[in-house]
Amino acid sequence: MNTPKDIRDLSFEELDGYLKSVGQETFRAQQIFEWIYKKGAVGFESMSNLPLDLRQRLRQDFDLKPNAITKKVVSEDGTTKFLFDLLDHEKIESVLIPTATRTTACISTQAGCKFGCRFCASGIGGWSRHLSCAEIVTQVLHVKEESQKHKRPLSNIVFMGTGEPLDNFDNLFKAIRIINSDKAMGIGARHITISTVGLVPRIKELARQNLQIELAVSLHGFDNASRNVLMPVNRKYPFDELIEACRQYVKATKRQITFEYILIKDVTCTPKAVQSLKKALQGLICKMNLIPYNPVSEFDHRTPSRQEMLTFRNRLEECGIHATIRMPRGRDVAAACGQLRHAHLEK
Ligand code: SAH
Repeated sequence: MNTPKDIRDLSFEELDGYLKSVGQETFRAQQIFEWIYKKGAVGFESMSNLPLDLRQRLRQDFDLKPNAITKKVVSEDGTTKFLFDLLDHEKIESVLIPTATRTTACISTQAGCKFGCRFCASGIGGWSRHLSCAEIVTQVLHVKEESQKHKRPLSNIVFMGTGEPLDNFDNLFKAIRIINSDKAMGIGARHITISTVGLVPRIKELARQNLQIELAVSLHGFDNASRNVLMPVNRKYPFDELIEACRQYVKATKRQITFEYILIKDVTCTPKAVQSLKKALQGLICKMNLIPYNPVSEFDHRTPSRQEMLTFRNRLEECGIHATIRMPRGRDVAAACGQLRHAHLEK
């Protein structure tokens, strides 16, 4: 006998197709989607408007279990971090980030990471596997449940957890369609952000699809040489090619791009970097999200002082590059990329 499939791996159309094959109508697919994605059902028994024999059939054919929560930590600022144990005992993390104006879920797309950026905890233990669509949407369901407990409806999704979203393209987009669909979670595309290490062919693909989704690109280096040192992926997709793909993206979609840029003392947060960025980004419709380096013990970078970061930001602004400093959240609970998972693996 096959192990039952997770029902959250099915798109609406696939679920509808399955239901038709067992003699059911489309409105049943709608009901099931509502139970799972609007009411947060974890189990078919509670789906009280479905006939009993259909519930039994679903139970035979599919799985619908919550993730096992290995750890949940709440920061002083309300940021809540989850570490989940998957069926094969891979560990993944998700974060709930409440701010004054929005409530954001930060979601992982892979167990581990292939890209080995020289400041990020996610890559240290290497890469294990892609997450399935079900594993991606289930994280969102958990964070959504937690946010509802605090009467803060989930408003935004950022794919900035462990892994490279665009390296897991098919599962990611299947999950995004569910997150976005009014039949399921109904979170608007403009409230969904994909953050990429800079996979040029995938950025071009996104430009062709012209979705309403927000794109954030981890730039971190200010020229080819500095990016080579910080991000090994730059040897495959060099700085200039990446910027060119971003220009094409902005042109094709008429959407702005966000660049994430890490602030490391004496490395990326320097006057030379400002001049180089000014040249590279000339005329490109973008904004810069400056992320203070969050210390990871394996790397010996330092975080600049507050004054150094403000000076850097102001210099960029003077060059016409709109830049904001992303305030660190949940530091006391290791909320930076991959830190909780990494700490767990260490043990
Ligand atoms: N693979 C995607 C998602 C990564 S996480 C990407 O590369 O964009 C989201 C952001 O956190 C990325 O910009 C990543 O480079 C950054 N980041 C990782 N480790 C960090 C650290 N120690 N301090 C600050 N930012 C970090």
